[in-house]
Amino acid sequence: MRDHDVVVGGGGLTGLVLARTLSQALGDGARIAVLDPGGASARPDPRSYALSAGSRRLLETIGVWAAVAADAQPVTGIDITDSALTDAIRPVLLSYDTEVGGGEPGAVGDGEPGMWIVPAETLQRAAAAALADTAGVKILPAAATALAQDVAGITVTFADGGSIRAGLAVACDGRASPLREAAGIKTVSWRYPQTGIVTTVRHERPHGGRAIQHFLPGGPFAILPLTGNRSCVTWSEDEHEAARILALDDAGFLGELERRFGYRLGALDLAGPRAGWPLGMHLARELVAPRFALAGDAVRGVHPIAGQGLNLGLRDVAALSECVVDAVRVGLDIGDATALERYARWRRFDGAASAAAFSALNSLFSQDNALLRAVRDAGLGLVDRLPGLKRVLVGEASGLSGEVPKLLRGEPLVI
Ligand SMILES: Cc1cc2nc3c(=O)[nH]c(=O)nc-3n(C[C@H](O)[C@H](O)[C@H](O)COP(=O)(O)OP(=O)(O)OC[C@H]3O[C@@H](n4cnc5c(N)ncnc54)[C@H](O)[C@@H]3O)c2cc1C
Repeated sequence: MRDHDVVVGGGGLTGLVLARTLSQALGDGARIAVLDPGGASARPDPRSYALSAGSRRLLETIGVWAAVAADAQPVTGIDITDSALTDAIRPVLLSYDTEVGGGEPGAVGDGEPGMWIVPAETLQRAAAAALADTAGVKILPAAATALAQDVAGITVTFADGGSIRAGLAVACDGRASPLREAAGIKTVSWRYPQTGIVTTVRHERPHGGRAIQHFLPGGPFAILPLTGNRSCVTWSEDEHEAARILALDDAGFLGELERRFGYRLGALDLAGPRAGWPLGMHLARELVAPRFALAGDAVRGVHPIAGQGLNLGLRDVAALSECVVDAVRVGLDIGDATALERYARWRRFDGAASAAAFSALNSLFSQDNALLRAVRDAGLGLVDRLPGLKRVLVGEASGLSGEVPKLLRGEPLVI
């Protein structure tokens, strides 16, 4: 006997959004359990996420965006520079205004911004609150450790010995994904010799909604506009240098940050805590097994260079939900193998291509070689003069290219 329809391992953003999406589409009768040893509450996290237009539409469709909107900063454009750390001036080599449709800056549709910057804690809090209000969903403070499938269902066992039996289990349990391990799915992975440093700054002048990406020899240094005169800095740095910088006192840390930030926004102040993430890439060799699927960072971990990790995870959520709901609508079992195969075919290429592209970009730009810089700067200048190519790149970053799942187009799933 199954006691649940779906069990979701992991209460990060991918898991919470998947549980909400499925329960809305399947209706009040659906029984969904989310397992996470930390529950679903917001943990301290200084990151802010660059969310694509597609991700925002998904959050709006499932009723999460309203609680996020006041803290969300629309991005009107992106300026890209490429220089040495000691260069006093960082000329903008490539600039996107993303003027597509609607005629407004940052529009990908009818005046809709192509990207938003949202604090991670705001998102986690909003998703958890929406789920607490969702009938048929329960969140259990448990760590999933093992799974066993048979023709009638899948049983997920917890560290404390308890278990749940459902028609479908989805691993949304992050990079290390204990459920992926338990299913015997292998990964390809490597470490970048870099750490991702994140903090928030306040600046003297308004950012006008523009994001800045400085390609520096230690790695990409992204300035993401937040509400008010604030920006989140997501800064990839050589791992040894990053350890030294993170250990500095506030004045020393701010000094290192100012050397990289540039002067465009005037005087800077620290406006939040700092933290560092070891950076790595991994890709699961399979996305599904009988009655089992992976989503989010359990599938792939990408370099934060393009701010796409969560966006890829939310695209998984939208595609998986659509495949499952389409199967249930025609009377198939919720763990139907053809529905899961359809999901795997849909998402396999996107994840692998993104992981490879972000890795290549990081290696191309994180090098202090004058000749290489001249060549890549000529390339950036060329892209800057090709509005057609820029539109394609903006479409990609907005999550609105290729076969776009319904939820990313803002269309609800119905049984
Ligand atoms: C520096 C940095 C900046 C980034 N910036 C961006 C950005 O701008 N835009 C963007 O789109 N992405 C960005 N990302 C990527 C983004 O953070 C991840 O893609 C996203 O958080 C993945 O969410 P997730 O829910 O799949 O995994 P996680 O957030 O890792 O959540 C996994 C959950 O599973 C739980 N768990 C673990 N083990 C178990 C178990 N045994 N049983 C049950 N639950 C378990 C954990 O407690 C956790 O809550 C960035 C990443 C980094 C490192």
